[in-house]
Amino acid sequence: MYAKPDSTPMKSRIARAEDAMDAALKSLSYPSDGQGFHRNGQDFPPNGIDGQGLDGMRNDNRPVDETRPVEVAPEPASATRIPEGIETGRPSRAEAEAAVRTLLRWAGDDPTREGLLDTPARVTKAYEQLFGGYGVNAEKLLERVFEEVEGYSDIVLVRDIPFHSHCEHHMVPFMGLAHIAYYPTRGVVGLSKLARVVDTFARRLQTQETMTAQIADVIESILKPRGVAVMVEAEHLCMAMRGVQKSGVSTITSQFRGVFKDNANEQVRFLTLVRGGTK
Ligand SMILES: [Zn+2]
Repeated sequence: MYAKPDSTPMKSRIARAEDAMDAALKSLSYPSDGQGFHRNGQDFPPNGIDGQGLDGMRNDNRPVDETRPVEVAPEPASATRIPEGIETGRPSRAEAEAAVRTLLRWAGDDPTREGLLDTPARVTKAYEQLFGGYGVNAEKLLERVFEEVEGYSDIVLVRDIPFHSHCEHHMVPFMGLAHIAYYPTRGVVGLSKLARVVDTFARRLQTQETMTAQIADVIESILKPRGVAVMVEAEHLCMAMRGVQKSGVSTITSQFRGVFKDNANEQVRFLTLVRGGTK
């Protein structure tokens, strides 16, 4: 792990990636019967593995097969689900709101003043979304693959997946972009699924290193690819707002498994594709 200065502010890179991701997910139409994106083999690889990233995805005018039922991604945000399984021992909403009032008093403010009256309820509600990843099983997200492309075994790369997370040390946001590549052995997963895997781990208290490893782990264990590479670059507000108070520093973490671990050329290929279209 190392830090490097980046002339483009992370905020604008994330905003750009979010737009690209929205556009990519909207343009991705695939039948809901699990038979793949399109019957037209030319639509593969689907994930910008030509190094053009998400910007390069289906920006052509190839006709979509309209005789088949089409599901327009993305699925509803998983983060709004109430976690199951941690209900036992989980504090009540009233207890959570009381805790927020305590922190407001600790910060030096008065929770009974008008502007703060509804804040505990809002914060508690926001937590359900910001930390909704605890209630999502990342393994399940990857269980459905498009086996139609079983013959496709070259690299699949999804670049510039935007995420927002919170550091587990200060509960302060860190945000950035994740890049994922793998060599499929038994079909590929949809773009939205990889984005949701990133979201699932991001919406928990995290360290960037742990999150990077968790993304690689779940892809490795469920998809059983020949190799998986994950790179996460992020700006940590706890660095920008407190402590050393340096902003604009991005921290990069990576995990290489399988052929990416064994073969330095594969790492170079991954890094080249990730950097390929970065403006
Ligand atoms: Zn921190």
